[in-house]
Amino acid sequence: MKHNIVIIGAGPSGIEAAHCLAVSGEHVTVFEKMEDPLENLRNKAFLFPDFTSASELTETFRTKLQHPYITYRGGTSITDMERMDGRWVLTTDRGEKIDTDDVILATGYRPFDASRKEELGYGIYNGVVTSLDMEKMLLRGRVVNSIGDLPSRVAFLQCVGSRDSKVGNNYCSKVCCITAAKQAVEVKKLLPEAEVFIFYMDLRMWGQGFEEIYRSSQQDYGIRYIRGRISEAAGTFDGKVQIKAEDTLTGLPMKMSTDLLVLMVGMEPSEGTRMLAGRCGICGEYGFARSENRHLYDNVTSREGLYLCGSCKRPMCLEDVISDARSAAMELLKSR
Ligand code: SF4
Repeated sequence: MKHNIVIIGAGPSGIEAAHCLAVSGEHVTVFEKMEDPLENLRNKAFLFPDFTSASELTETFRTKLQHPYITYRGGTSITDMERMDGRWVLTTDRGEKIDTDDVILATGYRPFDASRKEELGYGIYNGVVTSLDMEKMLLRGRVVNSIGDLPSRVAFLQCVGSRDSKVGNNYCSKVCCITAAKQAVEVKKLLPEAEVFIFYMDLRMWGQGFEEIYRSSQQDYGIRYIRGRISEAAGTFDGKVQIKAEDTLTGLPMKMSTDLLVLMVGMEPSEGTRMLAGRCGICGEYGFARSENRHLYDNVTSREGLYLCGSCKRPMCLEDVISDARSAAMELLKSR
């Protein structure tokens, strides 16, 4: 089989790059290991900073994927790829060989596995959930505690699996501060009587509109921010979660009981990113894929005909992912 361009990954970056190339007259095949594209986006309720409906955006991307020049191959993983005679030859999990001129890697990230932080009790106590679990509850419009009741107190913990040398991730995942503020506001909209706390190391509200959500979360919704780290969480006999923390502003240790503890998990390279970046010799820090030059050629790699876009390179927010995908498509077109 001969293809002009193959894109690996059908998240927002892969689909956006495919669509840009298709409208420019290129035939593109998009491989995705899941049957259905856009897994991470489908599990979100609203997007920061403007509370856009994630399902509307999902539909927009689905429509883009239906462009007549795009062939979608869901439920198919790329298990190997190598450069042969000036072309890329990809192997699928069904044993097919795919021959193509160019490849864009859009294999993205995976959320940090919170059970690796055993002391926080994820997977042990039902009242400890991750930001992904919370997003699913918000999507259903019903936030409940471990026994199915409405929570009267919810605590969020930042930087789980990021900025943490113990798990080997010294980097900041960039999006979890604003996600916590957004989710906290959504919880208060659903449960105005609930008390909501956010435990943080630093607040990184770097993007346009982020600071405004942060301010509004305090002024309009009464969300309380505590500068401190939770060192331990344990279940109580009545289904709550007892947390031990240190308020790093006052230096005082504290204990608190909460109905839900939400762990804001960071981003790690997906298995596909790690594996394919390794196979192609472009493995960067922490297992993310490495571009040729972060300032000037951030979509280009040291391998001819191999391009990168989105969070396979590093943690990125959705706006940046979409811009980056367009930029990857442009780089590829320039080379033709
Ligand atoms: S964005 Fe915020 S919560 Fe996420 S790793 Fe960075 S500082 Fe921590």
